[in-house]
Amino acid sequence: MTRPALLSLDDALPQLLAQAYALATSQSVSTFEADGRVLAHDVTSALQVPPQDNSSMDGYALRTADCAHAGAVLRVTQRIPAGTHGTQLNGGEAARIFTGAPIPPGADAVVMQEDCEALEGDHVKVNKAVPAGQWIRRSGEDVTRGATVLNKGTRLTPAELGLAASIGLAQLQVSARPRVALFSTGDELVMPGDVAPDAMPAGAIYNSNRFFLRAMLQRLGCEVTDLGIVPDKREATLAALRDAAQYHDLILTSGGVSVGEEDHIKPAVESLGALNLWQLAIKPGKPFAFGKVNREAGGNACHFMGLPGNPVSSFVTFLLLVRPFVLALQGATQTDIARTEMTAHFDWPRADKRREFLRVKRNAQGGLDLFPNQSSGVLTSAVWGDGVVDNPAGQTIAKGDTVRFISFAEWLA
Ligand code: AMP
Ligand code: MG
Repeated sequence: MTRPALLSLDDALPQLLAQAYALATSQSVSTFEADGRVLAHDVTSALQVPPQDNSSMDGYALRTADCAHAGAVLRVTQRIPAGTHGTQLNGGEAARIFTGAPIPPGADAVVMQEDCEALEGDHVKVNKAVPAGQWIRRSGEDVTRGATVLNKGTRLTPAELGLAASIGLAQLQVSARPRVALFSTGDELVMPGDVAPDAMPAGAIYNSNRFFLRAMLQRLGCEVTDLGIVPDKREATLAALRDAAQYHDLILTSGGVSVGEEDHIKPAVESLGALNLWQLAIKPGKPFAFGKVNREAGGNACHFMGLPGNPVSSFVTFLLLVRPFVLALQGATQTDIARTEMTAHFDWPRADKRREFLRVKRNAQGGLDLFPNQSSGVLTSAVWGDGVVDNPAGQTIAKGDTVRFISFAEWLA
């Protein structure tokens, strides 16, 4: 019997995203609290930014007709600090002005104070010829009234919060947080803190996946229900999935999704809903599963994603598949991650049938070094590394080759 070819990542991802219809609900949050959330509507501006022409220097506002040549002497008739506004400026006059203050009517340029000399009796000598428009920030040069400044589906970062505030928005309408139920499977798992390292029973290991999966979900704007460790038992697995499906948008599990007798996740999902895809041609991360678990009340089923138990497999499949999925649930337009072309400073002589994600680190020479142990159980590789090389199936790498690099900093943001 020939085994069917594994599904490629490029085939799997669109199938997954096609299921990730955006959650219907949105909510209004304080602009202060909106970092990382996804905009549910376009944001348009009700005003110009800056609101009026204003000075970008501390100095003097003047009429350039008076200052065609260096050495003009003007009478200082007004003083305009930021937060106030001036009055009509006439020929032969200057206004003392400060950064951010509106340009008074009649003035058409600013000269910085370093280019002037204050004279006796409220006069100023301008030591340079002044071109029209100098040091004036124009009304609307940042934002014009009526313009769409932020688009629906944008994942907000600090710069966007500042821009929203600059047009007067104290609240923003964002997509609801996906409700994600997280659980780990594996009878060998022990929680840090429950058993001291020197008292660990034979065969036990600490649950590491739970920590990074929860943190990554939270970074991506999810509301996480952490259901802890579910025993490797058919009934317990069924009960955990059935319960979690009722009040969550997504169930995310780690472990128990391979083909061993102790792997109960796959048959449980099949009996409670459907498994849409299972096993991908990627390394690490082959035993990835995607499907749904029906709800008692009917309606839309709860999405299900099962990650492999090996920590690096779990970590990488989360970033490749869960990350875009939960962003799509929030209506984010940008769900993919940039690959940058970089130079390998290592050899990878054995091609694999599967597309590989090799843990690497940028070096001072602008190239990439490889972590020596690429085993899917070695989480140190993800800590030492600052990203992965996305290496096509069947591809060897020789020192000096151009490879595609994904940065953890961007991927985890
Ligand atoms: P599994 O996918 O359940 O067959 O697990 C594969 C490997 O990953 C086994 O060596 C497990 O002990 C390990 N593993 C599973 N879950 C976790 C976890 N939450 N934290 C650390 N290692 C795990
Ligand atoms: Mg297991």
